[in-house]
Amino acid sequence: MSVHVPAPAPAPRTVLVGDPLGALVGAAETAPEGCVGFGPQTFTVIAGPCAVETREQVMTTARAVAAAGAAMLRGGAFKPRTSPYSFQGLGAEGLELLAEASRASGLPFVTEVLDPRDVGLVAAHAAMLQVGSRNMQNFALLREVGRSGRPVLLKRGAAATLDELLAAAEYVLAEGNDRVVLCERGVRSFDTETRYLLDLAAVPALRQRTALPILVDPSHATGRRELVAPMALAALAAGADGIIVEVHPEPSRALSDGRQALLPSDFDDLVRRLAALAPHFERVLARRDSGREAALR
Ligand code: PEP
Ligand code: MN
Repeated sequence: MSVHVPAPAPAPRTVLVGDPLGALVGAAETAPEGCVGFGPQTFTVIAGPCAVETREQVMTTARAVAAAGAAMLRGGAFKPRTSPYSFQGLGAEGLELLAEASRASGLPFVTEVLDPRDVGLVAAHAAMLQVGSRNMQNFALLREVGRSGRPVLLKRGAAATLDELLAAAEYVLAEGNDRVVLCERGVRSFDTETRYLLDLAAVPALRQRTALPILVDPSHATGRRELVAPMALAALAAGADGIIVEVHPEPSRALSDGRQALLPSDFDDLVRRLAALAPHFERVLARRDSGREAALR
């Protein structure tokens, strides 16, 4: 009788984001100031609005999430909307506003790129490129972000298996870009109680199969702000390397996803709880320069 022995999990790798040159940081002594690390010793929080709407909205949010302890800013300039008649984002102007908010808050930012033709433009502004769930298998886009030299946040498709997610990541890696961070953001289910079904088991399951860092997005997964903090805490317990969360100063006026946006005060409270709990899971909350700390260790 043969007993199935699972292969040992690969050693987790740290991905560094935020170096101005976009170059892979290998040697510890060359790790620049201001890097953010995604890896096994830290819990890294990315926060910001669903979409960039106005200068004031993105500046206010960036400053608030930085003060609360986020390590990176998020915000959509090019929005993948289900309907073509919904707000599509501010495009290039949104990138400029994100860059300004990034300078003001000191947080590097990640933003989604939808079209392979926009990769150069987005990579010129953003520290990290997001490939959203709707584009997880857009192979032309995956190749292009792979060639960009920028780190990539790759979100799982709402109906994608983990095999498919890992194969999508491989498209980026195959272009010589090994700075890929995976993100579980909920899958389609029969129950409409939550927007999607957060597959938290995906975190330890992926851990068995890949060295890449793994994030959780409790905002898109649940679609309801009151469920975001509990699932963010659960993500830490499940072994995630961080979260990406939506925050808006006035959720009721948000042009997209207001129902799932945390108020800055709720976000502040969540970060405090994550920081207090992280050491119980052999992690520390990542600060903006924790990538440098990780590299220097
Ligand atoms: C987002 O993070 O802005 C987003 C649209 O998420 P997803 O691709 O997971 O739906
Ligand atoms: Mn959103």
